[in-house]
Amino acid sequence: MSSSVPLACGCGKIRGAIEPASPSIGRRVVCMCIDCQTFARWLGNEDAILDEVGGTDIYQTTPSRVRIEHGREHIRCVRLSPKGTYRFYAGCCRTPLANQAVSPGIPFCGIPHRFMDHDGAGVSRDDAIGPVRARVQAKGATGPAPEGSHHEIGKLYLAGAAAGLLWDRLRGGHRPNAFRADDGSPIAEPEILSKEERSGLRAQCGPRRAAVLP
Ligand SMILES: [Zn+2]
Ligand SMILES: [Zn+2]
Repeated sequence: MSSSVPLACGCGKIRGAIEPASPSIGRRVVCMCIDCQTFARWLGNEDAILDEVGGTDIYQTTPSRVRIEHGREHIRCVRLSPKGTYRFYAGCCRTPLANQAVSPGIPFCGIPHRFMDHDGAGVSRDDAIGPVRARVQAKGATGPAPEGSHHEIGKLYLAGAAAGLLWDRLRGGHRPNAFRADDGSPIAEPEILSKEERSGLRAQCGPRRAAVLP
């Protein structure tokens, strides 16, 4: 059975849906990498975005399943480095919206949990998109990662993800893409963090962060 998951930024200006979304379509992953933590810190909303060990709960789906119905003009884009992933966020309230590969041909769209409005749907996150399937990049965790976490990205996980991407691409999952213009460029000109800003934020992330805390 599949259904849809409503999307809403923190202030409600940007709204849409993931459809279809279900535990068997897409995959729910917690990523503890330094980049995801850096993004959360840059947004200034890390306590709401990150779990107790610095993980971000993300539902991985295809761009073709993500619809933006309102507030597209508020969407902004940032890259942590000149070659970094496109990270879309809400200019209105700095809610993280979506992570996408730079190439518009890659049928990947990671939606951070803060953008999913499960309360609006009256369905728990577990029921809507299933339990967490993998916890990855535990080497970036700010504390003891839950048992079963992968230190990096597990090989088996990676193989499954690659097969999924190929399958999704064959089925045209890379289009349409609400975050891209017709030529594949991001709908908002990406801001690129300076080296200084990036390293300043990164210094506050990962295991080192735990080490400097009292
Ligand atoms: Zn907003
Ligand atoms: Zn990450």
